[in-house]
Amino acid sequence: MEWHQTLLNAFENILKMKIKPVLVYDRKQFSKYIYKGKVGPSQVWAECIKECGLIWLNPHLSSEPKVESVNTLYHECLHIKYPHLSEKQVRILADKVIPVGPAMATKKTKFDITHKK
Ligand SMILES: [Zn+2]
Repeated sequence: MEWHQTLLNAFENILKMKIKPVLVYDRKQFSKYIYKGKVGPSQVWAECIKECGLIWLNPHLSSEPKVESVNTLYHECLHIKYPHLSEKQVRILADKVIPVGPAMATKKTKFDITHKK
């Protein structure tokens, strides 16, 4: 979706990101990761590989209010820009800039999956 890319470009500029965020909708580049039967991609909103800026969004997000996609994209950009922040810290930062309703937290067991190559 074109507006996703437009937003990503804006976040890249706002956060002055050195690693350019790249959005993908297929899981090809994530195929080497093994999820050990625990939380898999279908149970999260997004996934990212911090070192290369690759972001995958769960297609299910498109049936949720748009603000949740905006929050998720910003959240993943924060993981890429600040790879050492904890999930909790990223969440607080993202939710401060793009507040979402409590529904988002309850619909998935885990918000996202991040990889460090
Ligand atoms: Zn996260």
